[in-house]
Amino acid sequence: MKINRKNFIRSSAAFLGTLYLNQLFAESTQKIPNSSKRKSALVIGSGLSGLYAAHLLQNSGYKVKVIEARNRIGGRIYTFQDKRSSTMGELGAEFIYGYQEHLLKLCEVLGVKIYEHSIETSMFLNGKYIPFNEVGENPRTHKILVKVTEMYTKMSDEQKEGLDKLSAANYLSYQGVDKKELFLLELKYSLYYGESLRHVSANDFIQALAKIYNKKNKIFKINGGTDSLLKAFVTHIGKQNIKVNNPVVSITQNKDKVSVKTKKGKEYKADICICTVPSSVMNQIQWSPDLTKEKKIANLQVKYGRITKIFSQFNNADWINKNWHILTDRLLQYVYATDINTSLNTGVLTLVSTGDKSDLFTSLDEWGLRTVLYSNLRNFNYNPTTSKLEQIQWVNWQHEPFIKGSYSIFSPGMYYVKEHLQKPFGRVFFAGEHIAKESGSMESCLLSVLNAVKQI
Ligand SMILES: Cc1cc2nc3c(=O)[nH]c(=O)nc-3n(C[C@H](O)[C@H](O)[C@H](O)COP(=O)(O)OP(=O)(O)OC[C@H]3O[C@@H](n4cnc5c(N)ncnc54)[C@H](O)[C@@H]3O)c2cc1C
Repeated sequence: MKINRKNFIRSSAAFLGTLYLNQLFAESTQKIPNSSKRKSALVIGSGLSGLYAAHLLQNSGYKVKVIEARNRIGGRIYTFQDKRSSTMGELGAEFIYGYQEHLLKLCEVLGVKIYEHSIETSMFLNGKYIPFNEVGENPRTHKILVKVTEMYTKMSDEQKEGLDKLSAANYLSYQGVDKKELFLLELKYSLYYGESLRHVSANDFIQALAKIYNKKNKIFKINGGTDSLLKAFVTHIGKQNIKVNNPVVSITQNKDKVSVKTKKGKEYKADICICTVPSSVMNQIQWSPDLTKEKKIANLQVKYGRITKIFSQFNNADWINKNWHILTDRLLQYVYATDINTSLNTGVLTLVSTGDKSDLFTSLDEWGLRTVLYSNLRNFNYNPTTSKLEQIQWVNWQHEPFIKGSYSIFSPGMYYVKEHLQKPFGRVFFAGEHIAKESGSMESCLLSVLNAVKQI
């Protein structure tokens, strides 16, 4: 069966477990001439995209090696576990949304257990706590958002391209959202982008909004932490096939082979390569032949959000309400209860800052960070003399080596950039969160890999 885009998507939706994945891969690779000769693959990057690519390739008979620059696998999936209290939190990806059907199915196929996690977001604005049941939505804004999402579903490609010339903030303002309401939308949706809606294309924003707005999407988390998904992959791929602490410095290819050299001086050769490194660091690799000008520029055009995510663990944690999900107008923009060990009376709060606010954390040491936490959490009945901050861990994603950002952002005027990012380059195929049509999530990773595999 020749796989075209339409029936690829249709069959993706059908998803029938491992069998299906193998079949999908077999179908999508049957175009390869002399497929028996193309039996080894290198995957660069061990984030979700890299591990999923390795898993699919291995399932269909390829000998696979994954090469990772950092000293741990997982990239932007990073579960932190406090051994003493056995509490945990996520410093990277955490939530699975009900519409992320590939991801949900993959968890099922790999035997990774998930559970439903209800989120009722309250607010803390202008020094006042507003409980969830009083948050309410401005009826006028609601009407505008319903209108723009409905309009979007009927837009032609040409109209979407036109919409892409505007920023989400300007478009919403043009549609009649007032300044105060725009501020609230910014507060909420900057968590999805890591930046203000001023930096996000209206097309990208409304496309994503059409999926979530006014819909009762369930939210899930992974039992034992998001890295349970990584562990399931490692079991299948084999630890010996994943080389960490091994930054790729050059990729050379000819008509028969692709060769990858690492900073340690190692050289790996294979028939094909799937490169999953983020655009923010892709141009640092030396390519021979050199990457096309379009691809290099496309990599430079992709912006990445700035997010600081903090794991903070307290003793005498009675003041922490286990249902807390609070959006605030303070430096710590989102505060939520993550894990409570009732027998030790230990509680974990996760705290998130984005954009310029996140950058303010860059120069803070642990003492500075503790001071910010104390002053922000006083608003939520926190008393440092009775409840001690026992453990604090944080990541400024924009400063993480080999990643340099939380998620990719597509600003106005970048409508055709993804085409360049997605295009294979000789024997190298590209995947990663930033490559998918809708970027920024774990689901994006899977879709980008399916797209890359389809191109082989
Ligand atoms: C704070 C935060 C919260 C998030 N929350 C959610 C959420 O709740 N739900 C959700 O669906 N998504 C969420 N995401 C997004 C999700 O984490 C990402 O979309 C996904 O993990 C990206 O995976 P990836 O494999 O494409 O990229 P990465 O995970 O970045 O993997 C790329 C890998 O390539 C490696 N690399 C780079 N250069 C080289 C080189 N030269 N040589 C070798 N290796 C190299 C990097 O070290 C990295 O490990 C969140 C992200 C962040 C940062």
